Amino acid sequence: AQESENLMEVINTRLPKKLQGLLWLIGQKAQKEGYKAYAVGGFVRDLLLGVPNLDIDIVVEQDAISFAHKIVKYLGGEIKEYEKFGTATITLKDGRKIDFATARMEFYPFPAAMPEVEETTIKHDLYRRDFTINTLAFRLNSDRFGEFLDFFEGRKDLEQGNIKVLYNLSFVEDPTRIFRALRFESRYSFQMDEGTMSFLHNALENNVLQKLSGTRIMEQLQAIVSEPNPSVIFTRALELGIIDNIFGQCTKPQQLKKDLRKTVDSVQILQEKSIIEQKDVLLVYLLVLINSYPKKAFEIVLNDFNLEKGSRLIISNFFNGGLDRIERLKSSKHLDPSEIYDALNSLSIHCLCAMMALADSDLLKNRIFLYLEELQKVDVETTGNDLKKMGIEPGPIYSKIISRLRQQKLNGQIHTKDDELNYIKGLDLIERGR
Ligand code: ATP
Repeated sequence: AQESENLMEVINTRLPKKLQGLLWLIGQKAQKEGYKAYAVGGFVRDLLLGVPNLDIDIVVEQDAISFAHKIVKYLGGEIKEYEKFGTATITLKDGRKIDFATARMEFYPFPAAMPEVEETTIKHDLYRRDFTINTLAFRLNSDRFGEFLDFFEGRKDLEQGNIKVLYNLSFVEDPTRIFRALRFESRYSFQMDEGTMSFLHNALENNVLQKLSGTRIMEQLQAIVSEPNPSVIFTRALELGIIDNIFGQCTKPQQLKKDLRKTVDSVQILQEKSIIEQKDVLLVYLLVLINSYPKKAFEIVLNDFNLEKGSRLIISNFFNGGLDRIERLKSSKHLDPSEIYDALNSLSIHCLCAMMALADSDLLKNRIFLYLEELQKVDVETTGNDLKKMGIEPGPIYSKIISRLRQQKLNGQIHTKDDELNYIKGLDLIERGR
């Protein structure tokens, strides 16, 4: 009975006019060319929630790739097809992306009790999705444009704030859904329902995350740090035993929860100052996480997570000596700026951001921040050419002079280029390398 409900009004009032027109055009084309097309998934979910969502997902009965070709001919833009998956993506001239997927009807443990309806194909496609709130769809074909499809009580769960899987073995079949559940919980302030929670525990008892490749785990962690508050999601993951399932037993869970909260702050401060970028954030969280786990976690990340060499090196440096560097910054009451500079100079911004998060004193945090915001930007203006002109023989002495200049500059003893040149002139002749 619910299939006859129409979303036209929601579509007309909540979506931008241009997008409405686009959906309508796709529906007309589908009608004319003999396809069945549906708007599905996150797009429909967010439409009903009143949350803007720029990604349009369309499922096509018959063949999505040939249909997408017809649409791109009509609308312009660029098309990319993925033959193997029966999918295609169109990027329109304004940058908007539309995904087309061929409706899939693989075998799934479809509940026998459910009455068969006309839309067997789309229904099967929706059934293989992660959560009921993502199974909502509406028809695009112009004869029944806007007709709402809600086979699995997705709307009810959307209204009640439930994250609910469609079948018992959902998490076992695709453990990435565990992370997706946490993201949706946090993003919309929803909660997994009781059944879903017990399926989750069951999946974890069977160590499903250990069967997931490091690359897939990384993709999910990346998605988590792209949400507005990763620390809430990681904390929930910690409490549910999800992180332990990947890394072994956490050595200091209470401390880790605090560290995660502080990581949000450090990341935010440094992002506001454009000191770190979004692409750097995952590595910061990884450092903070690994820090509260036994050595095994470090090894898993380095060996199995398929990280780039640079990232592996950063992690490795952090735990092999990097972290110890802050000991002095913590304990010495007075330090010259140049001493702070020397202690932190060889560490990457990821390490410094993580150290700020892990810092247990304001003194330490402020020193790292001072380094990042000011000290690391202090530049020596004197060049090798200047030194040559002053008659100093090129050699290792050059870098010694430059670092002496930096030290003087950091400590506020010299300021301008003239100061620098005068300082060099005043250096001992032997020091100048003559
Ligand atoms: P987001 O707003 O984070 O992009 P989304 O729901 O749009 O969320 P996508 O990752 O773009 O998520 O996926 C699109 C749709 O594909 C989802 O709405 C869901 O129906 C389905 N989907 C994605 N990943 C899975 C999965 N692991 N298992 C089952 N269905 C999935």
